[in-house]
Amino acid sequence: MAEQGQERRRRLVLVAAPFQGHINPLLQLSAVLHSKGFSITIVHTQFNSPDPSNYPEFNFLFIQDGLSDHDVASLDLTAIVLALNDKCQLPFQECLARLVKEQETRDDRIACVIYDELSYFSEATARNLKLPSIIFRTSNANTFLARSVIIEMYVQGRIPLADPLSQKAVLEHPPLRQRDLPISSFGPMKNFFKLIGNVRDVRRSSAIVYNTMDCLEGSSIAKLQQLCHVPIFAIGSIHKIVPAPSCSLLEEDTDCMSWLDRQAPSSVIYVSTGSLASMDAKDMLEMAWGLANSEQPFLWVVRPGSVHGSERVESLPDGFRAIVGEQQGRVVKWAPQKEVLAHNAVGGFWSHCGWNSLLESISEGVPLICRPSFGDQKVTARYVSQVWRVGLHLEDELERGEIESAIRRLMADKEGDEMRQRAMDLKEKAELCIRIGGSSSNSLNKHTMRFRHSCR
Ligand code: UDP
Repeated sequence: MAEQGQERRRRLVLVAAPFQGHINPLLQLSAVLHSKGFSITIVHTQFNSPDPSNYPEFNFLFIQDGLSDHDVASLDLTAIVLALNDKCQLPFQECLARLVKEQETRDDRIACVIYDELSYFSEATARNLKLPSIIFRTSNANTFLARSVIIEMYVQGRIPLADPLSQKAVLEHPPLRQRDLPISSFGPMKNFFKLIGNVRDVRRSSAIVYNTMDCLEGSSIAKLQQLCHVPIFAIGSIHKIVPAPSCSLLEEDTDCMSWLDRQAPSSVIYVSTGSLASMDAKDMLEMAWGLANSEQPFLWVVRPGSVHGSERVESLPDGFRAIVGEQQGRVVKWAPQKEVLAHNAVGGFWSHCGWNSLLESISEGVPLICRPSFGDQKVTARYVSQVWRVGLHLEDELERGEIESAIRRLMADKEGDEMRQRAMDLKEKAELCIRIGGSSSNSLNKHTMRFRHSCR
């Protein structure tokens, strides 16, 4: 109990990046650290600010990000992140200085600043205020290593690729092919290299925390550790360590859970392309009719903006809702994804392969159909189909007949059963990672020990 009392007096400041796939794991990490006895302050931007009401025990502080509605509407993702890092430094400096001052009259001291790798502006401020800092990387080790390959190729003048869809093997990083490399499709190439350069730079941070695990990326994590001069802690899947409430930026349609209750076990394919990816109207049409023609029940997240330019209009093809009744398919704007994947009616996940979605799927033993859009999603899709062998990779143009057959292969064929079995095996390994004595659990304990003994 004495130790518990002592820990309570340590505060961690976590700096979020304003995207759903970054906010979720940061709040999950905060919940884990809170369960270990730390007080938590979350610093976030106004843009995409999380709803604090589900986390009354945390202190939320927002900083002015200086982004106008016009910036948000007109800038690409890379440009938004670069702009945020320029604009947030000063407000964060003021915010953290105030927190440091306040601690003189409080019973908790700031032990460390943990910042999302995209919010790299945080490091200089922490250093100026003599606070240690730690980087939190929400993506995977293989993407980081693949980016090293990209940088090398860029130096050699091999990027941009002569053929972005090239099947040529990347000899430095099997089993990736050139088409799987996480090269940005957003904005000018020079911005992409500026961003990955900044994100890779450890600066004076004392450690890096990854939401990944040995059973998925053991050898790549070891390789990363050899390349890196600070300790790396792979503590995933963070969302499975302690229950953390939802932090969705969009309202979740929880009624879909009762629809799932009415479906047969492992019969439903859950379809979601995450919070950022979008497609053109033609792909949407093929996807819709491919799903309908498969005759398999589906739960489909069609987020506002899923189709380019569809923020305010219906994205589904004309007549789709009338022809495909609620009995076969349920379409929602946003789902409680972790609960959906944990539901026994869900037997497959058509995913864009965002890293959180992948971890959530693996944690429930659900096999996948991968349709990556950009960045780390392409790396993950390749690992799903070729290394972990827990899913199919839908490549090339989307066509309804191909989609129908992929869904059947996953949901109704022996091939799909084998993938499901491998996914269940991987789920067990993932559970072992976070159990006491497992690799993620050990890493987490070492990571929190740093705050207690060495951070201040
Ligand atoms: N998510 C959700 N409901 C949805 C779709 C996604 O709660 O309908 C959550 C999902 O559980 C995951 C996050 O949004 O935690 C998306 O992160 P991911 O890394 O998978 O993809 P991104 O959105 O960053 O591309």
